[in-house]
Amino acid sequence: MGKVLIIGAGGVGTVVAHKMASVPEIFGDIMLASRTKSKCDAIAKSIGKDSIRTAQVDADQVRELTALIRSFEPDLVVNVALPYQDLAIMDACLETGVSYLDTANYEPKEEAKFEYRWQWAYHDRFKQAGLTAILGCGFDPGVTGVFTAYAVKHHFDEIHYLDIVDCNAGDHGHPFATNFNPEINIREVTQKGKYWENGQWIFTAPHEIHRPLNYPDIGAKESYLIYHEELESLVKHFPTLKRARFWMTFGEEYLTHLRVIQNIGMARIDPILYQGKEIVPIQFLKAVLPNPGDLGANYTGWTSIGCRIMGVRNGTTHHYYVYNNCSHEAAYKETGTQAVSYTTGVPAMIGAMMFMKGLWKQPGVFNVEQFDPDPFMEQLPLNGLPWKELHDADPEL
Ligand code: NDP
Repeated sequence: MGKVLIIGAGGVGTVVAHKMASVPEIFGDIMLASRTKSKCDAIAKSIGKDSIRTAQVDADQVRELTALIRSFEPDLVVNVALPYQDLAIMDACLETGVSYLDTANYEPKEEAKFEYRWQWAYHDRFKQAGLTAILGCGFDPGVTGVFTAYAVKHHFDEIHYLDIVDCNAGDHGHPFATNFNPEINIREVTQKGKYWENGQWIFTAPHEIHRPLNYPDIGAKESYLIYHEELESLVKHFPTLKRARFWMTFGEEYLTHLRVIQNIGMARIDPILYQGKEIVPIQFLKAVLPNPGDLGANYTGWTSIGCRIMGVRNGTTHHYYVYNNCSHEAAYKETGTQAVSYTTGVPAMIGAMMFMKGLWKQPGVFNVEQFDPDPFMEQLPLNGLPWKELHDADPEL
């Protein structure tokens, strides 16, 4: 029985709390803390078990975090607040001697640039302290790294081409909404495209490269090459990769709104003066957009996320596609959130379970693909995310 502190009570935090409460033999004592305590209380109430305690914390403040961690004494802190808080929470973990897990890499508030280098720089300190930090344990990053490690372990001698394909074929009924935190989401999808080829990064204009891709049981969807954070760790940990790309589907309506938002300056991340007060346009926009955590009620359709991999085994070239399809309706029925929060929260819970069971417990800072993928893959279908494999099907890419 372990003690876990979850930080962040948004869509993803809701799923993590629900899922952890469903395995009390692993997570015997759960605390959910966030900036707004009433959100934690509402989640704890909806789960309806008395195993979840709640607390208020500003996770930008290391002192507040260390006080909370010292009073609760968890074995692991699961960070599902925002990427801005990653370093403060890692600092607090080091100070209090507690291990760490997150789902998104650090990004400074004032610059839309996410990179692992800030968190990788903590490796020696975590190692010396005998603590584990598991980075990027959502779906993408997260399961996509585990899928890749699984392919390397079981299906190839060497992998050469990796395409991560992320399709949301769902309909939430709003003209424009983002499926996770709008500020983080808009910063991510409006940046330049970038992919790995022959030992270097190739940059593209935002959304410059796109093509229809076929997703299992969904069909063809226009898919756009964007940069996504797991590419950085995957090309490092699998150096045989000659090319690694990430594709995400966007509807015309979504892209049109995005263009307008950018053109009128609402995607700006620098503060502007409005009626004598400083505001950041993208943060103001977040306040008027639908809350991603509330999108679930009328969401229909599926997400489909997977890895298409080409490599060699016994001197022969093979294609391999491993993916999960997740229903928005089923996710909502179980946890009250849509499939994007669900597909992120379930792997975070499984990563925490791997740590608690001692299977993913190693001093230092690690990305998920550095651990044994097998026990994690085994848990995915048992916790609502079944996966399927296609061997030597048309790779399209
Ligand atoms: P939300 O915006 O719905 O929730 C974020 C939560 O963090 C809110 O409860 C918010 O509090 C809290 N928070 C923000 N700042 C602080 C702070 N300073 N101190 C304490 N709490 C704070 O986001 P999501 O649930 O959609 O996403 C959570 C994380 O998951 C993000 O980092 C996101 O990037 C990541 N993610 C990862 C994915 C993956 O597959 N790897 C996919 C989707 C998301 P308040 O309510 O007061 O604002």
